[in-house]
Amino acid sequence: MENKLKQMVILASDAIKKCKTINELMDVKALYLGKKSEFNTIMQDLKGLSDEEKPRIGKMVNEAKQAISALIEERKNHIDREKIDALLKEQTIDITLPGKKIAIGHKHILTKTIEEIEDIFVGLGYTIKEGPEIESDKYNFEMLNLPKDHPAREMQDSFYITEETLLRTHTSPVQVRSLLANTNQEPLKIICPGVVYRKDDDDQTHSHQFMQIEALVVDEKATLADLKGTLLLVAKKLFGENREIRLRPSYFPFTEPSVEVDVSCFKCNGIGCSMCKQTGWIEILGAGMVNNNVLKAAGYDTDKYQGFALGMGIERIAMLKYGIEDIRHLYTNDLRFNSQF
Ligand SMILES: [Zn+2]
Repeated sequence: MENKLKQMVILASDAIKKCKTINELMDVKALYLGKKSEFNTIMQDLKGLSDEEKPRIGKMVNEAKQAISALIEERKNHIDREKIDALLKEQTIDITLPGKKIAIGHKHILTKTIEEIEDIFVGLGYTIKEGPEIESDKYNFEMLNLPKDHPAREMQDSFYITEETLLRTHTSPVQVRSLLANTNQEPLKIICPGVVYRKDDDDQTHSHQFMQIEALVVDEKATLADLKGTLLLVAKKLFGENREIRLRPSYFPFTEPSVEVDVSCFKCNGIGCSMCKQTGWIEILGAGMVNNNVLKAAGYDTDKYQGFALGMGIERIAMLKYGIEDIRHLYTNDLRFNSQF
């Protein structure tokens, strides 16, 4: 019996050493320690032994089983370790490989231009106001001195949604909303940046969707001279300290008088080049004193209050500043274009 047990431990030990996987090991465990193992047969046989023999053989059986259990446990740890080692080897990081360069994104040129213009005006004490892009005819036209059938409406070909609703053609309705909201009629100093829409055919210089920034000042003594001072400062900030401006008479329904504003050409310094069409001047925006009809429509006492307004196309400013020749580049999101700025 003693020899038989020793033999079993040797056989089990050999079988355990050959196991390469946990599954194989579990099969061996079942074979030697399971319910149908030879140890169980031996335990059955114990019944036939004398009372002195029983505890001695029983102890030997237990010791043999413990020895096999220990071997199985040891093998299991070994297999686990090998598995981890193999994984580590497979997943080793080669720290000598050169790294991949991750390109860092940046703001779109239009966003940068808007923020630059906003910064100039915020520095002058203006507040930024925004409003809806789907606007009523009343705010977009009527309250801006553009009643229905006014011929000047044709200056702004519009996308109507219903007879009374349209995609705003300018950010001026934000001015109207701000005037109406200012029920105490305190001095107002705001800029309104945003997307606007016109029924234009897209080409090099036109887009059915573009962006504007308008500025509006209303108080008891805002004058054309204040407007001119503001325009000169903005032109210098945007296009360089040596810039000059000139005002030409123009017409907008919501301002009276109205002006077109030119900046002295920053490419040729006024001598004349292809950019300024040999004139030395480049048109950058429209402006004027707020038409009394606009102030009256918003409930302002025009004997007491007056104001000035200006509006510029952000794309035009960006195109001039950065030498972009086609407005469509600003909207097609070609990374080869976008990453240049
Ligand atoms: Zn020029």
